[in-house]
Amino acid sequence: MKFADLGLSDELLKAVADAGYDAPTPIQAQAIPPVLMMKDIIGIAQTGTGKTASFVLPMIDILAHGRSRARMPRSLILEPTRELAAQVAENFEKYGKNHNLSMALLIGGVSMGDQIKALEKGVDVLIATPGRLMDLFERGRILMSGCELLVIDEADRMLDMGFIPDIEQICSKLPTTRQTMLFSATMPPPIKKLSDQFLNNPKSVEVSRPATANTSIDQSIIHVAPKAKRKLLYGILDNEGVDTAIIFCNRKTEVRDLCQQMRKDGFDAGQIHGDMDQSSRLAELDRFKSGEINILCASDVAARGLDIKGVSHVVNYDIPWHPDDYIHRIGRTGRAGATGVAITFVTNRDDEHVDSIQKLTGTKLPVRDSKSVKPEKKQGSKKPVPDKPKSDKRKKQPSDDQQISAKKRPEKTAKKDTKSEKQSPTQDRVDETDDGWNGPVPGFLDAKLDR
Ligand code: AMP
Repeated sequence: MKFADLGLSDELLKAVADAGYDAPTPIQAQAIPPVLMMKDIIGIAQTGTGKTASFVLPMIDILAHGRSRARMPRSLILEPTRELAAQVAENFEKYGKNHNLSMALLIGGVSMGDQIKALEKGVDVLIATPGRLMDLFERGRILMSGCELLVIDEADRMLDMGFIPDIEQICSKLPTTRQTMLFSATMPPPIKKLSDQFLNNPKSVEVSRPATANTSIDQSIIHVAPKAKRKLLYGILDNEGVDTAIIFCNRKTEVRDLCQQMRKDGFDAGQIHGDMDQSSRLAELDRFKSGEINILCASDVAARGLDIKGVSHVVNYDIPWHPDDYIHRIGRTGRAGATGVAITFVTNRDDEHVDSIQKLTGTKLPVRDSKSVKPEKKQGSKKPVPDKPKSDKRKKQPSDDQQISAKKRPEKTAKKDTKSEKQSPTQDRVDETDDGWNGPVPGFLDAKLDR
């Protein structure tokens, strides 16, 4: 199958070729033709499968004709998190570069004034998180009656984050004649109900679950006492050819503490969690993408759906509470044909979580002995560190004198979190700054069903 067979315009084909894509991914091959025929779609696919282009590309062609009016967006894409929304906007810019469509991004954490101005001018495509959209709607800044195209992306995450009532409300404000596309990695009953209620005779397209199909990820679990986790992590980072790694923790305080400690210990580490404002999250992500730092400590929340390529290792410093999150986390590595390593730390309280991951993925996770990990390389104080070997990702250690003066420098820390941490990211509705989970999953896998 070629892109040229899908019915897209020449301008789009050119943009796709410029993006360097040779062939459509299975979800694109299945979804684009019916979307162009104005059919409703349920896409069961995860991030990493190329699903964004499967709705963005046909939308651009559909919207190419027609004009936007003030405060009346012509199409709406709902995303669970700001980062995902920003990523979809980037996709629109990339694929829509030969078109003249206007776009606005409505996300929390950035000034409302500019967003309102953009809406006043009229937009063809509105990309929004439900919270900010409802806020502006209630202030009378948006009229939904001109919106003929709706995308609900990552619907199961929306459910986890308590956004379904907002989505129901938004759907009921849109014209009933609209075209609707719903994407979700899984189809729990409330999402099925949502699609029954708001989609019209949808065509279902599904690509297989990456965790079961993707054999390019070398997965293992290591039993470890909670207090020994950091030592074990350093052993892995020092000895196992780690180029870039995402270290997932379940709590944002843990992300913060671990990152801070790793920096003190000489690692080029950054962090991304729900307590950071939008611009710091994106700035940190840019530092990781550009290679300025090679380790990113992350909460599921902030990392959800981010397209970070070429991560050699994912370490689950904490085993995720939800098995779906495991699939999304490990999907950061081994993407688009590359191989990757995913290591999960398991304490003696985590058996239940291991069981549910194994049940969901249908595989038994190989257990590695913690002794198989060489101990961390001793840095700093006693022995001088030899020239930095390729796999040694720690910063050159300062001399003892430098260490002493560095200690005097106050550490730049995030504000102390006084709120108690949530036990589970799926409980209740959470604020957009504390939204959701994590991310993508490998791509370009077999298309399985075409119901
Ligand atoms: P997504 O699932 O939309 O997050 O896409 C995952 C990654 O796949 C993104 O980096 C896209 O740029 C890339 N991608 C999307 N479609 C294709 C394609 N047909 N060929 C190669 N890469 C693609």
